[in-house]
Amino acid sequence: MRIIFLGPPGSGKGTQADILKEKLNLVKLSTGDIFRELSKENNDLALEVKSIMNKGMLLPDHLVTKVVIDRISKDDCKSGFILDGYPRTLNQAVQLDEFLNNANIKIDAVINLNVNEEVLVNRIVARITCKSCNASYNKFTNPTKVENVCDKCGSNEFVTRGDDNEDSIRTRMKEYFAQTYPLVAYYKKKEILKDFDGSKNLENITKEILNALN
Ligand code: AMP
Repeated sequence: MRIIFLGPPGSGKGTQADILKEKLNLVKLSTGDIFRELSKENNDLALEVKSIMNKGMLLPDHLVTKVVIDRISKDDCKSGFILDGYPRTLNQAVQLDEFLNNANIKIDAVINLNVNEEVLVNRIVARITCKSCNASYNKFTNPTKVENVCDKCGSNEFVTRGDDNEDSIRTRMKEYFAQTYPLVAYYKKKEILKDFDGSKNLENITKEILNALN
């Protein structure tokens, strides 16, 4: 199965993509995670990527598309993948379609999580990531089982993302509505868009997504 997650920053697409990856045994490809890793390197590209990401702006289409296509061409993606955070512009969606058409691959579903803007900002500022294993949590919507202890690895060190500050959040919202939101209509026209209310609780959304995919 091949799935794309759409939704504004903070809509919970990364969390739902992680759950679905486990349940459906698929490879999850998060462009945000890939470029956060790349930005830790010590070279000019890493510095540029980090600066763009911290401002909340989008990275160039050709760079992101190349990374995604290289990754989904690998053997472990042959039986399916989940794209989280890509495509994010119409140009990326067209570039992806070109590649998929040539490779004779079809996207089964585009999962669109709708959440209103005020809820999003409150969610984003409550986001934390485990420093050792990268597991992500939200102090309100997806807290650790034991306060300040990672469920997955037991670490008690958490970090917040460099781009989860107010200025950057505002820019990311603007970028989303200007550049990414048009993809909702793009995939609706292809009749593969499935809409969900992302403000419901986490387990309910997962259930609804799994039902819709079955
Ligand atoms: P995310 O973790 O998905 O919120 O992505 C964090 C940041 O990575 C974004 O604000 C962009 O700077 C960059 N990024 C991730 N995916 C893309 C993409 N598909 N196109 C352009 N920039 C991206």
